[in-house]
Amino acid sequence: MTGIGLDKTTLKLDAKGVPSFDPATTRTASADGPSPIFIAGDASNFIPLLHEAADEGRIAGENAARLALGKQVNPDLRRAPIGVVFTDPQIAIVGGGFHSMKPGTLATGQVSFEDQGRSRILLKNKGLLNVYGDIASGRFLGAEMLAPAAEHLAHLLSWALQNKMTIAQMLEMPFYHPVIEEGLRTALRDLDVKLRAAQANGSKAA
Ligand SMILES: Cc1cc2nc3c(=O)[nH]c(=O)nc-3n(C[C@H](O)[C@H](O)[C@H](O)COP(=O)(O)OP(=O)(O)OC[C@H]3O[C@@H](n4cnc5c(N)ncnc54)[C@H](O)[C@@H]3O)c2cc1C
Repeated sequence: MTGIGLDKTTLKLDAKGVPSFDPATTRTASADGPSPIFIAGDASNFIPLLHEAADEGRIAGENAARLALGKQVNPDLRRAPIGVVFTDPQIAIVGGGFHSMKPGTLATGQVSFEDQGRSRILLKNKGLLNVYGDIASGRFLGAEMLAPAAEHLAHLLSWALQNKMTIAQMLEMPFYHPVIEEGLRTALRDLDVKLRAAQANGSKAA
């Protein structure tokens, strides 16, 4: 980042010259504590996506106004992580991804779309979906997929993640027939079986 004189401030900068900041408030920090400067969007190098930039802009604007009025800076909602790549088939990720999860604490449910009914009818029966669940709580942790209609599956799953749903609660939701979401249900059922087995014997699942 050049041209706005960050090097002339006392802001704490990371190795790439980006200010340290609190994602919940968007407030930056200087060497002697919280700074009156707020950061939003791609400039923060945090989550370079449009809906996140819009959220950060609103949070930064509201908190800067609060600070100017002598009020407290407040943390605000950060949404469940979601990412979509518009390839064919699409690639999508919900949550932080398998690599960010603690080994031994989660189970994985899986479905291949090769034999999934609606995907076959649409001639889009290519792809794989992994869903992850926390063994201790039964909660949904996230998903990774290369799948037909992945943009829609990812949205459904990100809503479940943000609502802190368990796999059992997700399986209580309706699944119409014949739809691609029936493939998701297969993966959730697979995960449910694995979670119950891991909970019953106290062993670690993958
Ligand atoms: C090729 C590409 C594909 C993308 N695809 C997606 C996608 O599919 N989904 C998604 O969610 N996000 C996508 N993004 C990311 C998304 O576009 C950004 O996260 C978002 O636009 C960030 O918003 P922003 O306001 O922080 O920055 P920007 O939208 O970049 O706005 C910054 C503005 O500041 C202006 N500016 C810069 N320097 C100065 C200056 N010194 N003085 C005055 N004005 C200045 C710029 O000209 C620009 O208009 C994509 C980005 C790229 C590049």
